[in-house]
Amino acid sequence: DAAKAISGATGPGQTSDGHAVALLANVGSGKDAVAAAGAEGVGLFRTELLFLDRTREPGLDEQVAAYREVFAAMAGRRVVIRTLDAGADKPLPFLHQDGEPNPALGVRGLRIARQRPEVLSTQLAAIAQAAIQTDADVWVMAPMVSTVAEAAEFAAAVHAAGLPKAGVMIEVPAAALRAEKLLGVVDFLSIGTNDLSQYTFAADRQVGTLAELLDPWQPALLQLIAACGEAGKATGKSVGVCGEAASDPALAPVLAGLGITSLSMSARALPAVRASLAARTLAECERIAAAVLDAEDPAQARKLAS
Ligand code: PEP
Ligand code: MG
Repeated sequence: DAAKAISGATGPGQTSDGHAVALLANVGSGKDAVAAAGAEGVGLFRTELLFLDRTREPGLDEQVAAYREVFAAMAGRRVVIRTLDAGADKPLPFLHQDGEPNPALGVRGLRIARQRPEVLSTQLAAIAQAAIQTDADVWVMAPMVSTVAEAAEFAAAVHAAGLPKAGVMIEVPAAALRAEKLLGVVDFLSIGTNDLSQYTFAADRQVGTLAELLDPWQPALLQLIAACGEAGKATGKSVGVCGEAASDPALAPVLAGLGITSLSMSARALPAVRASLAARTLAECERIAAAVLDAEDPAQARKLAS
């Protein structure tokens, strides 16, 4: 195992000169978490799975059991659990959200908590109970946050449930622009590049013909990520990426150079990303990142990073 770790096939993520970038897994169930044994933890636990196709909200005990499965599989490690991200591409029948003219711009993600506070409070209570029953390091984050006020409200609810670590996802350009102020009220940020691309480029993530606009190498997207990385460096707080962009091995050194401190992806993407990071020093990552930010378009950005 030690030999493998030295060669970079397993073990923690780091640049060749030892700058740590945690390599985490995206999971949706206990089964996924067991399959992610090679990860340093979970960077995105999507909790929607339990709620899909349900006409009634799953009860507290059922939620505790589902969350505990993932926490138990990651004993001693970080698990970033995301509260319910319903709406738009993830419609949940029990919330009766039909009838919105633009669901992607409607009452989705954390916005639902304003209308249905009991859904969030039950979920936070279940997370807290499951956390107590295991020794995972549980961090809780909210999806689709747009303002510092929303983030502060969420952090207060997380802390009131007895959970010490609260964070928010950066999926809306308004949030990326206010990253440093957000870090004044939460402990960490996690950039959801799938939605951040969608909302930055006004391009529906479900429309395949818009792939060019949704390319994670788009300089405008990278500029927003850079703003978040800078905020992380200024505050000493954790800023991760958990969207599809995190699984691109060529992009990993760029993200590290922009100040990103963790990358969360599907477990099978981990080895290639680990190897890519291990091939560069932090100074090289920073030099590449600066060049890529100045690129004219995604193709030039890719060339500058190769
Ligand atoms: C994202 O938007 O990048 C993200 C990680 O969340 P989801 O794909 O579940 O919307
Ligand atoms: Mg998202």
